[in-house]
Amino acid sequence: MKSINFGIDLGTTNSLITKYENGKVTIFKNPVGHKDTLASVVAFRPDRTLVGDKARELLTKDPINIFANFKRRMGTDDKFYVVSLDENVTPIELSTLVLKELKQFIYSGEQAEAAVITIPASFDTMQSNATKKAGMAAGFEEVVLLQEPIAASLAYFNSRELADDKEGYWLVYDLGGGTFDIALMRIQEGEMKVVDHEGNNFLGGADFDFGIIEQIIVPYINEHFAIENFEQELRSRNGRYESLFYELIYKSEEAKKELSHQAQTTIEFDLLHEGTRHNVAVPVSRAQFEDTINLRVQETLKMLLDILHRNQVQASDIEEILMVGGSTYIPFVRQQLQAATGIAVNSAIDPTTAVAIGAAYYAANKYYQPKNNNIVLGQNVDDLLNSLTTGEDGVDEAYSDWEPAAVQLKVSYSKMSKDVEEVLIIKAEGALDSKSYRIIRSDGGFDTGFVPLRSKFTEFLPLLPNINNTFYLRVYDEDQNEIRSAMEEISITHGQFNISGQPLPQDICIEVDDKDNHTTKLELIFEKNSILPQKRTLYREISKTIKQGSEEQLIINIMEGDRFARPLSNLVIACIVISGKDLSSDLIKGSDIELHISMSDNRELHTEVFLVMTQQEFKNVFSMSEKQVNVDRLKEQYIDLENEIRNSIKMFSTDDNDVWAIQANDFLKELAQNKAELFKLQESDRTDAKYVIAEMLNRISKAYDKLGGEDRLERLRYEYFEAKEFCENHMAMVDFRKEELVQKFQKLIAGEHHVLISRNPSILEKATEKINDLGWDIHWNTLSYLISRYEGFKGLPPDQFTNYSGVQAIIKSADAALQGEKYYEFRQHVYNITHLLVHNDYKVKNEDFKGTGIG
Ligand code: ADP
Ligand code: MG
Repeated sequence: MKSINFGIDLGTTNSLITKYENGKVTIFKNPVGHKDTLASVVAFRPDRTLVGDKARELLTKDPINIFANFKRRMGTDDKFYVVSLDENVTPIELSTLVLKELKQFIYSGEQAEAAVITIPASFDTMQSNATKKAGMAAGFEEVVLLQEPIAASLAYFNSRELADDKEGYWLVYDLGGGTFDIALMRIQEGEMKVVDHEGNNFLGGADFDFGIIEQIIVPYINEHFAIENFEQELRSRNGRYESLFYELIYKSEEAKKELSHQAQTTIEFDLLHEGTRHNVAVPVSRAQFEDTINLRVQETLKMLLDILHRNQVQASDIEEILMVGGSTYIPFVRQQLQAATGIAVNSAIDPTTAVAIGAAYYAANKYYQPKNNNIVLGQNVDDLLNSLTTGEDGVDEAYSDWEPAAVQLKVSYSKMSKDVEEVLIIKAEGALDSKSYRIIRSDGGFDTGFVPLRSKFTEFLPLLPNINNTFYLRVYDEDQNEIRSAMEEISITHGQFNISGQPLPQDICIEVDDKDNHTTKLELIFEKNSILPQKRTLYREISKTIKQGSEEQLIINIMEGDRFARPLSNLVIACIVISGKDLSSDLIKGSDIELHISMSDNRELHTEVFLVMTQQEFKNVFSMSEKQVNVDRLKEQYIDLENEIRNSIKMFSTDDNDVWAIQANDFLKELAQNKAELFKLQESDRTDAKYVIAEMLNRISKAYDKLGGEDRLERLRYEYFEAKEFCENHMAMVDFRKEELVQKFQKLIAGEHHVLISRNPSILEKATEKINDLGWDIHWNTLSYLISRYEGFKGLPPDQFTNYSGVQAIIKSADAALQGEKYYEFRQHVYNITHLLVHNDYKVKNEDFKGTGIG
C-alpha cells in the first residue's frame, strides 16, 4: 500500500495541487505566472486547448469557446458546445482538463498516481461520482473525495497547537467565486466532524462582479451617454456590446479585489458610441461596492443563523468562524459576520489555499494499492505479462521472479498521530527464513535490535512530540547483510489532527409503494449526516405478483434527498429493474425481498438484491455520474404530481389564496407542455427526452414543495389540527363500526410527530387528507347524519340520479327500515342511493397504479 499524499482543490474558479511530505505540505506553483492557483477555465482554440489564466484572459476575445464555472454543472448531463471544434464537451471532460493541467505543476517529475480531490459538502452522489470520474479520466489510479469544510478545518487545526482534550463547535464559512458553503463543525472525544451544512451553488464572487456592472457601470453609462437599450445590448448573446461585457466582467473582478485593500478605484475602458471611441473611467468606492453586495451577504448570514437554529446551537457556543474562499478577503463580509453573530471571525488561514492544504493532510493518511504497471528493469516483458495473468497479485510474483531472494514488505501505519506511540503493521512476503529486521528512529532514541522476520508482525513506535518522526525499517539476511531493496522509511508526524469519516450530505432512501394512497413513499436507508461508510440490510415484501417471463417489473429506486419529501423531489442515484423476464419462477405478492445496501467513503453505492422466493441474487455497483430514469415510473409520477397540484389549487381557491393558486397553476401549465411528449415515450427511447422531463418534474416538484413557504406549512398544520378536531368531536356520536374507527384514528395520529415537523407540504396534505377521509367515514357511520343526508336525497329532482325508479324503490325500503329501527339496513340503503347519484363526489383513485413492486 502507498500513501496518496497528493491533494487537489478542484475549485469553481481556482484549482490547486498540493503534497504532504515529512510533516509539511507543499503547494505546487503554477509554472505559468508562478501563482499558487490555476484558474478553472478552459479555452478551445482552433489549434490547441488552453487551461488557466491564459484561457481566462481570452474570455474577452473569444467568449464562445471559453468555459468557466463548469463545476456548478457537475453531475448533470449538460453539455457545452465548442464552436471551434464543432463538438460537445461535458463538465466532466472540462474538469479532466483542469486536473491534467494541475499534474503539470509537479516540478519534481514525480507521477501523481492517486489524489484526494475536494468537493463541496453539499455535492450530491451524482456530483461526487462525476468528480471521481474526472479524476480517473485525468489518469489517477485512485481518487478519494474529501468535503471542503473538513479540508479547511484540517488545514487550520494542523497549523496550530491544540489541547489534547479540545472540544467544541466552529463554523467554516466558504465564499468562493461561484458557490457559498457553510458548515457547522464539531470536535468531540477527539473526533472532528461536520454536524450540518448548507449551501448555495449560485452565490459567490462572480455574482459580485456582475453586481458592479449592473449597479454601478450601467447606471454610469446611462447617465453619461444616451445609448439605446445599453444594458440589453451588453448582456445578451450577440448584443452590440457583448464583447465589452466580458471585458467588464474581467475589470470588475480586478476592481473588486483592489477594493479589499483600498477605499477607491477606477474601472477604465473604451466605449464605442456613434462611431466615436470614448475613454470611460468609472470611479468606484468601497462603500458603493458594499451596497451592491449587501443583499447577497445577508443571504449568507441568514443561512449561517439557520444552521445554528436548526441544530439548536447558540452563537455563544461557537468558538470561531473560519473564513475560506477568495471572497472572504472582502472586509465588508468579515465585518458583517462579526457584527451580526458576535462570533470571532478567524482569517488566520489563507482562504485561497486552505482547502488544498487540508486535502494533502488527508491524503497523507489515505492509502491505495498501486497498479504498478511499470515494467521492472531487467525483466522480460513476456514473463511479466505471464505472471500478471496468473494469480491475483501478479505484480508481486513478477518481482519475485526477477529477484528470487528478495523480501517484500507491506507496511501500514498512520502518518499523523496525537498519541505517544503509533502502531506499525508489517506483512512480509518472499523467503523469510533466517532473515531479521531492525527498526531505528532517526535520532537514535529508539531501536528494536535484530528481530527474526515473520510473515506478519506489529511494532509500537514511540513518537517525539510535535515533530515529524522518521524511522528506518531494514531487513537483513542470515549473515546480517542488509537487503537494501527491502528498506522502508516510515514517517509519522506527531501532534497533528485528523478525521475519521465524512458525513452523508442528504438522506438516502428507497422508494416503496404506498398502496393506500396509490402512490409511493420513501423509506430511510441512511440518514443525513451519518458518517460514511454505511451498510444496511432491509427486508421488504413484494407488493405485486410478477409472472415469470412477463413484462411486469420490480423497480428498486435508491434516492438521495429529503426523506420527508415526495419521491419525485429526490434524486435517483441507483436503479435496479428486475423484470418478469429475469425471473427463474413466478414471484408471488407478499414474498420476501432482501436488500443489502452499502455506501463507501467515496459515495459509491453497492446494492445486492435477493429474492427469497426464486432464490435469485442481483448485484450492482453504482457510481452513477448521470441520472437514470424509468419511463413508466416517470409517467406515474407525472400523474401523481399533476393531481396533487390540482387538489392544492382547489384548496388555495377556497381559502382565497389567489397568489398561490396562480403560481400553482403556472406549474400545471409547465407540466402540461411536456405531457404529450412524455406519454408517447417508450422505455427503449435512446434520446435525452426522458432526462429532460425527469429534470423538469424534479424541479417543479421541489418548487411546488416550496410554494408558499412557511405560511403554507403553517396553514397546512392548522388544517391538519382542524381535521383532527373534527374527528375527535364527532367520534362520540358514531353509531356503527365505532371500535374500528377509533382504532383507525389512533393509528393515524400515532405517526403525527413526523408529519408535524415535516417541511414538506405534500406529507402534511396527505396526512390531512387521510384524517379528512376518516372524518367522512365517521359521518357516514353516524345515524343522525345519515338521516339528514337521506332527507336531502329524497328532496332531489329525478335528473340528479342515474336511475330514478331504482332510487324510489330503495327509498321505500329505507323508510321501512328506519321505521322498524333496523339501522344497519337503513345505512346500506343510503349508501346504495349515493351510488345512483349523477354527481358522485367519491374520489376515483388511479386503480392501475403499478408502483415499484416493493411494499
Ligand atoms: P473557488 O472556491 O470558487 O474556486 P476561490 O476560493 O479561489 O474560488 O475564490 C475566488 C473568488 O474570490 C473570485 O471571485 C475572486 O474574484 C475572489 N477574490 C480573490 N481575491 C479577492 C480579494 N482580494 N478581494 C475580493 N475578492 C477576491
Ligand atoms: Mg473553493
